[in-house]
Amino acid sequence: MTTTRFAPSPTGRLHVGNIRTALNNWMLARKGDGQFILRIDDTDAERSREEFVAAIREDLAWLGLGWDREERQSERLDRYEAAFAALRDAGRIYPAYETAQELELKRKIRLGRGLPPIYDRAALELTDAARTAKEAEGIAPHWRFKLDHEEPIVWEDGIRGPQRFDPAQLSDPVIRRADGSWLYMLPSTVDDVDMGVTQVLRGEDHVSNTAVQIQMFTALHAAGFAAQHDGAEEVPDFAHEALLVGREGKLSKRLGSLGCDALRERGIEPEAIVALLARLGTSHPVEPIADRAALVEGFDLSTFGRAPARFDETELERINTAIVHQMPFAAVKDRLPEGMDEAGWHAVRPNVKTVAEADEWWRLVTGPIEQPDFAEEDRAYLAEAAEALAWGEDPWGALTAALKEQTGRKGRALFLPLRQALTGMDHGPDMGELLPLIGEDEARARLAQAAEA
Ligand code: GLU
Repeated sequence: MTTTRFAPSPTGRLHVGNIRTALNNWMLARKGDGQFILRIDDTDAERSREEFVAAIREDLAWLGLGWDREERQSERLDRYEAAFAALRDAGRIYPAYETAQELELKRKIRLGRGLPPIYDRAALELTDAARTAKEAEGIAPHWRFKLDHEEPIVWEDGIRGPQRFDPAQLSDPVIRRADGSWLYMLPSTVDDVDMGVTQVLRGEDHVSNTAVQIQMFTALHAAGFAAQHDGAEEVPDFAHEALLVGREGKLSKRLGSLGCDALRERGIEPEAIVALLARLGTSHPVEPIADRAALVEGFDLSTFGRAPARFDETELERINTAIVHQMPFAAVKDRLPEGMDEAGWHAVRPNVKTVAEADEWWRLVTGPIEQPDFAEEDRAYLAEAAEALAWGEDPWGALTAALKEQTGRKGRALFLPLRQALTGMDHGPDMGELLPLIGEDEARARLAQAAEA
């Protein structure tokens, strides 16, 4: 069974970048008839906020990305402690005492010598006496995971293809701070093991973390820490999505902060966000597909490209408009103005970019409207229209046919004064649909009023 997870840190709202990761993990799970886990990465007590946990849940629910299980790292600290003990006993974790300044200095020196700025493992050379002396001075250690330098780290990435890292070119990662708090690397691996995650799909900024974590998975299994899940491999499958960039080709601040809440306020529908992000950076065309099942059906990691995916807000707006034009009355009725029925929605739908814009057009139906000043000959024409108005199956068709016959007017001269008198506007929804909604008495009154003015 496929098990995927979306693991946001609750330090802000969801934005287009992590919505895409959530969506792709959701689709991967749905396609594999599997499980999608929402994992709240809240080990950083200082930056994590409860209000963001709530907002993440709310945004995912609004997007229609339901999760089968929710986990929180802050409730799993005993598991991290146990993994730490197991790895330490296995000789895969060691204490280090350098201060941040010392590490920075070492980094600069290595860079100056043209060496990769990785940790030199000086702490591994410390004697027991030296360590005891440090601790007697009151210096608490932070802890590093000791990479195995023997073998290259390799994996077949679901998007990037074969990957190979030389562990000697990587720093032994710090996994725990001197105050006992956890950094991202180990808890995430422990969770993926415990929760039986089969596929890790995330941004390519995590590629080198994956190299390290692959060794952690193997070490946890070797240390007997990991209970084997049915059918799950020791190490999950990994895939890394190319970065999302703005139209200009860079990941702009603005794009990074384009939050789900802001999009929603702008009238962007969840289905538009999903339709765009599901196809962005893949070889499938971006289309206004509101049918979620069809998107899931077509989801395939082999269609994902390695080039950065371009996110264009105008494209999102275009998709949104096309999605809104497909939306059935039942899907929008709670957001429509009072009294607007199915015929009303169908009349205005082709003219709106967002559902909220239905309000403006509906005011043309309910009135009051503001009519322009008409020239004298148009006033006479409108008086004739008020007389000619007859109610039946298609009042607009009947009215314009009769007026054409009586007055010889055609085209703009025939239609525009009528539209202006009836709606106060010179453009808008189809009059054939609008006129029945305005109603006979009100329509006659508006024509008569325009004729008088
Ligand atoms: N909390 C991490 C992040 O938001 C999760 C990374 C992962 O998927 O493992 O970057």
